[in-house]
Formats: sequence, C-alpha cells, structure tokens
Amino acid sequence: ATPTSVMVGSGRAAELGVLFRKGDALQSLQEARVVAFDKTGTLTMGRPELTEFATAEDLDETARDALLARIAAVEAHSEHPIAEAVLRAAKMRDLPMPAVEDFTAITGLGVSATVEGRRIVIGADRLMAREGIDLSGLAARGDALGDQGRTPLYAAQDGRAVALIGVADPVKPSAARMVETLQAQGLTVAMITGDNARTARAVGAELGIDEIVAEVMPDGKVAAIEALRAGASGGRLAFVGDGINDAPALAAADIGIAVGTGTDVAIETADVVLMSGDLAGVARAFEVSRRTIRNIR
Ligand code: ADP
Ligand code: MG
Repeated sequence: ATPTSVMVGSGRAAELGVLFRKGDALQSLQEARVVAFDKTGTLTMGRPELTEFATAEDLDETARDALLARIAAVEAHSEHPIAEAVLRAAKMRDLPMPAVEDFTAITGLGVSATVEGRRIVIGADRLMAREGIDLSGLAARGDALGDQGRTPLYAAQDGRAVALIGVADPVKPSAARMVETLQAQGLTVAMITGDNARTARAVGAELGIDEIVAEVMPDGKVAAIEALRAGASGGRLAFVGDGINDAPALAAADIGIAVGTGTDVAIETADVVLMSGDLAGVARAFEVSRRTIRNIR
C-alpha cells in the first residue's frame, strides 16, 4: 500500500469510528482468515443479571435469604461482573450483609470465603469438581440453564452443594449480523471464553459461530489463539476483545481489535480500536481494509 492510500483509508475508517493505530494493520486485516471473539463484554453486553437462585433443599424464605446474603457477601469482594449480578439481586431484597473472612478469588473459576463460621465456595462446576463437591442434586438444572445460554454457577457451604445460581448476559443486538457479514466474506468466526461449555455452545449457535473454545482459563487465551491460528492454514488471525482478561490475547493475535470503551491497556495493545461497542464496526474495519488494498493494486 502506498502511504497516501493508507492515509486516506485510515481517515475514512476514523470517520466511521474505526481507528487503525498502526498503518500495517490496514493491510494485514484483509489477509485474515479467522476472526476470534472474546464472548463476555465483546459479543455480549457484559452486564449479566441474576435469573435463577435455586436451593438444593427446600428452605423457608428466611433461610433462603440468609443463604443468598452469605453468597452475596462473598461476591462483594470480587470484581467479576458475575459478582455484581449476585450483589444487585441481594440488594434488591435489602438483605443485610454478614462479615466475610479469608476471601480468595480463584481466577477463572470462582471465589471462596468464610462467612458466619461457614466455608462458602461459589463458582463454575469445574471449581466444585476440584473441591470434591457433589453436584448431582443440582447439575441437571444447571446443564439446562447452560443449554439456554445462561451461565450456571454453584454455591457450596461446608463442602455441600447448597444452591444453583443462573446468570444471563444477552448478546449485543449487532452481533448476529456482524458474524453473518464476516462469514459472507469467507472468514471463519470463532469464540474464546472462560465460560461454561454448554453456555458457550448455546450462545455460539444463536450467533452461527463456526468454532467455539470454552472453559479457557485467563492465561490460556493466548494458547487458544495459537491453536486457532494453526488451523487457519497459513492465513492470519484477528482477535476482537474488550481488554478485560484478554489483553495478552489482543497482543498475541496477528491483528488485535479492541471494542467499546475498552481499557487503557486494550487500547495500547490493539492494532485497531473501535470507538463504540457496536459490532458493525468490526465488519466495517474489514471492509475499509479490503477496499484500500484493492484500490492500490
Ligand atoms: P470470561 O471473562 O472469559 O467469561 P472468566 O475467566 O472471567 O471468563 O470466568 C470464568 C468462569 O469463572 C465464569 O464463567 C464463572 O463460572 C467463574 N467465576 C469467575 N469469577 C467468579 C465469581 N466472582 N463468582 C462466581 N463465579 C465466578
Ligand atoms: Mg471480555
């Protein structure tokens, strides 16, 4: 590409809210064969809501509220969007929060702490398996939630499963069309997420995504990128993320695309920055890249 055509292309893109931070990104984007997306906050709104709270045993309202309060008190110490969803639900019921000791965040899996003398663990089924907690009374309901695209979480108290929590994070209205547009251009669309495999599969099916890599630990996202790139048969790989948990993936991709307000680190790491969370910008970035390169050839 000539410097002038790249400048014109970049300028046109900027007017559409697509910032090419590096000149060669405009060129390399149209060489991409695979576009991988982070799920939470990139394909989805990123603001989950609590939709289910089912207890393993039948509890009266007081006992049920006391359990939810204990769980929410633990989540109050976590910065995860899931934690905020649980906390909002407890606040809606005006539940008093008990004191929390020994809080631990288990990255990519959940949280644990001691509340009112009880050991509370909250998180993915994988965390419960690791803790040796039997989920047989709740797992069928949890799997059903996953199949609906919701995230099932489990809470255990003193080593026993006590509750199933369902969290919903709807997809962005612009997501399905954007996936379709990229596929119509011959691109393979993939999704990488730390979320439950069933949940990821349901969301992926809703959006028509070609490849899904789920239950990825935060430090495994780079390896997931490399595996997808290996499958791109020599073509390049673009990764689209919001920078929460995925800045290393943005850096590892051939072209890193940061969406939405993003974090400072995402903007600094990315080759392309989309000013809004609207995913139409992703398809636009590819279009500008292709047009610019085609015009020069
Ligand atoms: P991603 O951002 O890709 O969705 P994370 O690595 O942040 O994934 O989280 C992966 C999974 O870990 C979540 O889907 C959830 O099951 C569990 N988890 C993480 N933090 C919490 C939390 N504070 N409370 C409950 N579960 C959590
Ligand atoms: Mg994210």
